[in-house]
Amino acid sequence: MTSTERPFLNRRLAEFGTTIFAEMSALATATGAINLGQGFPDTDGPEEIREAAVRALRDGRGNQYPPGPGVPELRTAIVDHQRRRYGLAFDPDTEVLVTAGATEAIAATLLALLEPGDEVIALEPYYDSYAACIAMSGAARVPVTLRPDPERARFRLDLDELRDAVTDRTRLLLINTPHNPTGTVLTREELTAIAELAVERDLLVVTDEVYEHLVFDDAEHVPLATLPGMRERTVTIGSAGKTFSFTGWKVGWVTATPALVSAVRSAKQFLTYVASGPFQYAVAEALTLPDAYFEAFREDMRARRDLLATGLTEAGFAVFRPAGTYFVTTDIRPLGESDGFAFCRSLPERAGVVAIPNAVFYDHRDAGAPFVRFAFCKRIEVLTDATERLRKAFAH
Ligand code: PMP
Ligand code: GLN
Repeated sequence: MTSTERPFLNRRLAEFGTTIFAEMSALATATGAINLGQGFPDTDGPEEIREAAVRALRDGRGNQYPPGPGVPELRTAIVDHQRRRYGLAFDPDTEVLVTAGATEAIAATLLALLEPGDEVIALEPYYDSYAACIAMSGAARVPVTLRPDPERARFRLDLDELRDAVTDRTRLLLINTPHNPTGTVLTREELTAIAELAVERDLLVVTDEVYEHLVFDDAEHVPLATLPGMRERTVTIGSAGKTFSFTGWKVGWVTATPALVSAVRSAKQFLTYVASGPFQYAVAEALTLPDAYFEAFREDMRARRDLLATGLTEAGFAVFRPAGTYFVTTDIRPLGESDGFAFCRSLPERAGVVAIPNAVFYDHRDAGAPFVRFAFCKRIEVLTDATERLRKAFAH
């Protein structure tokens, strides 16, 4: 086989192809359909924070390589935020690492902590970059499936399944709460059981908490690092993208013990080295916004959730009303459909709307086949238009 005949994409990545988000956003552009697929807000975040970025650019702050761990102002703001909201204490110099979005935090963490042959337990359905990064590290992913609980309109963790998935090769648990794509917020009981298992089996835990501020009604976001025995074995991942509605700025972070942060930094320095200089200063300001900002943001998203969830229910979908994130997972079987992929590919033509088939987030594709995700981080008029289209297409 000549070098151009051999597949260019290596075996580790061959199964991944193009991310579903790019594919579905391209479909929306090509068809002119309303894009409720990829999760990005169609309105920018606070004007004063945008202005803070402009000021940083103009003042020459961050226009050259920022420090590897992140600018001190941002590291301090991250630490203050964790203390203020959760009572967690981190040292800004040794226990924080700023990354190019949560995406790089995930990549660097997994590349740093895993050896080929290690096993990683991830809650399925899982965010697509987890599988790709585990593959790049040479480790093996072991999915534990979140089970639909239609009565409570949420997905739940089967703790026995989780326990049974742990083997002598398990190196870490990869957790995500609030959970994309199901909108489930793991309860304190579920998280306590995860923590007890991690301690009992001596596992590291990587927890993706990028939706920490998007928690609705009486749901509570419990950072895993706050639970007994977890502070020393947990890598917590955060991001400004979701909380401040600037997903293009790509400012994320890791908080953990000095030894864990140092390991993650070793991988991160060879991925981007550093990123997002001026935006780091702006995010530092954003993190010090008063509680009123976070409350208003959450309330605003809750209203959008209600609009979309109601519209989807009226159109005939079975709706898992999300307690967190800005996604609604639906079951399409009440519409007489069972294949989410085929449904999402035909949805632009049938209804002028784009959504994401949850099956792409599963190893057990059958378990995810009937679920379809819609994003509600869109303007009210866009959501109103989309729900009317869906009602017209499906409600009879
Ligand atoms: N984790 C989850 C669960 C996500 O949904 C996303 C994307 N929105 C990310 C990580 C990536 O975040 P970022 O845009 O900060 O890289
Ligand atoms: N996290 C966003 C989502 O789940 C998409 C981010 C991306 O396109 N990588 O929709």
